[in-house]
Formats: sequence, structure tokens, C-alpha cells
Amino acid sequence: MSDLTLILLAAGNSTRFQTAVKKQWLRIDHDPLWLYVTNRITAMKNFSKVIIVAHPDEISFMSSMCDYAIVAGGETRQESLTNAMEYVNSPYVLVTDIARSCIPNELIERLIASKDIADCIVPSLPLSDTIVYVNTTIDRDQVKRIQTPQLSKTSVLKAALQTTLHYTDESSAIVAHGGTRYFIDGDESGHKITHTHDLSSLTCLKAPSNAIFTGNGFDVHGFEEGKPMVLGGVEIESPFGFLAHSDGDVAIHALIDALLGAACMGDIGMLFPDTDSTYKNADSKELLRQCVLKLHQFGFVILHADITIIAQTPKVASYKDAMRRILCQLLQIPLSRVNIKATTTEHLGFIGRKEGVGVLATASLHYFDWKNG
Ligand code: MG
Repeated sequence: MSDLTLILLAAGNSTRFQTAVKKQWLRIDHDPLWLYVTNRITAMKNFSKVIIVAHPDEISFMSSMCDYAIVAGGETRQESLTNAMEYVNSPYVLVTDIARSCIPNELIERLIASKDIADCIVPSLPLSDTIVYVNTTIDRDQVKRIQTPQLSKTSVLKAALQTTLHYTDESSAIVAHGGTRYFIDGDESGHKITHTHDLSSLTCLKAPSNAIFTGNGFDVHGFEEGKPMVLGGVEIESPFGFLAHSDGDVAIHALIDALLGAACMGDIGMLFPDTDSTYKNADSKELLRQCVLKLHQFGFVILHADITIIAQTPKVASYKDAMRRILCQLLQIPLSRVNIKATTTEHLGFIGRKEGVGVLATASLHYFDWKNG
């Protein structure tokens, strides 16, 4: 039985990372970065437990992709770490940041081999530039760049985190608490991804797969007298609208399901539950906007959408162009990649009896290509 727990911090907001995709969701072939790093470290060593700390909004999607324990992060790195430490009961804990994606296995081996030397074992690197503190040049040999992963004694780290002071790594909290720290040589390949330009130094990471993913969506809504009708984001002249918890835009609902299907992200009801009063009479365009934002954050780029509106009434032919123009803006793709078709059921069935409208949608996505921009 291993005496070591692995904690991977992946809850960051990527605020300094200037792309729509969050850095933990950059794809390495098919795996998001957080999963790639976790699989790589766990393949080299048997851990008693593996805990990934994630943004609360991302936990359900992450859990659908793996069997690792995923816990909610906090506002700061320290808060996230404190949350994860509640689940640690092994004598030692190895904490790393997902953004340090190319840490060599050999560095982790050296950390583990040094585990009894001090309360916290820390990789560090020297500085080669002249260092000025405020206005004074200081001896650079006395200055170190601190990296993660760091290996700590669990009991000491838990005690050190019982503080209102803020630290950016485990060793600083441990030393401030009276514990001991031992430095081992760090490794430049453990460089942290903070800005977009950091990606070019990560030669260990494979480019994302160029696969294309397709999803379908289907939705039906019955008519409701006196309600405005919104279909494909466009207001339609009609004596009735759609009976629904939201504005009932059945075309956008089918489209959201197609997008979520392509991303393997479940369905519209999981993203916007109709038991949630927030979505009462919701503007479906806003739901689509939120869906697109999430897809982008999770590393997807929308390629195209095709929608078939099945309606005996209203007649939608004259609205198709307006729908395409609104939807391409919401999807943030060129007009040439949105198609709308309209058909009837030749008076058959509930649609033919003019009781409601059905919509089929197809959408395709690919991964954001962070290697080639
Ligand atoms: Mg619906």
C-alpha cells in the first residue's frame, strides 16, 4: 500500500491565459490537459489516492471522463489545496499544478527518494539574471525559483494550512509554521503554463487530434395561445407561441442538444434544468450563448450547424435567412456554416394537426488547435 497521495490542482480560472479555452482544457491528442497530466503521473507510481481539484462548474463534465476523485476548488490555490487535504490520510502528499505539464518522471522520483529529509521537499532553480529588490541589487545566489510538485508530510501541511495568511506554495506555509524545507534541483521542463506564449516551450505535449465530432438534437414544443413565438432566435408573426418553461425556442433547444452531443456534454436539461427558476421564461439565445462559452472554455471550436424545422404552421421560409444571421453570430462562426431547412409532415401526426413544431439539429465541432493557433 502506497504511503503517498497525489493532489493535482486544476481549479484555476486561466485569467492570464489569453484565449477562450481554459488552459486545463487544452487537448493533448484527445485528452484535456488535466487528464493527460494525471494519467502520466499515475502511470509512473502507485498512489494511495489521487485527488483532482477542479472548478465547481467543471466537476460533472470531468467526472464523466474519468474515475479519479474530483473535489471542488476554492477562490485561491491555498483554499483549493485545503479542500483537497481533507481527503488525505496517507503520511505523505505530493501536490502539483496541472499547468506544470512536462515535469520529468525523474524529478518526481528524486522528490520521493528525499521524503524523510525534511517536512517539505521542494524543487528549485537558480536565477541567472541580475536581481533587484525594490531598488537594491541583491545576491542572486541567495534567490531561488520554486517549482511544484512538492512533497510534504501530511500532518505538517495540514497544520500549516490552518492560517489566514496566504501562501503560493506548500513549502512557504510549512516554513512559516516552523517546519523544515529541503531543496532539490528543479527542472526547466517543469515550466508553468501561465500565458499563451508559454505553450511554445511545451515540446513534450502532443498537438490536439484533428478529429471532427458530430452531435444531433431533437426537440418538440406544443403551441400556447397569446405567447410571442420565437423560433431560431427570430420573432415570428403568429397568434400563438410555444408552451415551455423558457421562451420555448424549439430550434435553439435542438441546436444546443446537438452541440452538447458533439462535445459529449450531456443535454440541455443537465446544463439548464427546468426545475431551476433562473430559466423561467429564459431567452433561449442567452442559453445558446452560455453553451457556446462553455464549449470554448472546454477546448472546442464550432464548425457548423444544420437545422431542420418540421412545421405545418407557421410558414418559416421567409424567416430562414434572419435565423441564419442570428445563429451564426451566437455560434461565432461564418454565415456560410449555418444551414436552416423547413419542411412539413404533409398534414400527418401532431405536427400535421398544427399542435406544435419539431426540430432536428446537427452540429459539428473540433478541438481548439493551440499548437498552430
Ligand atoms: Mg425544449
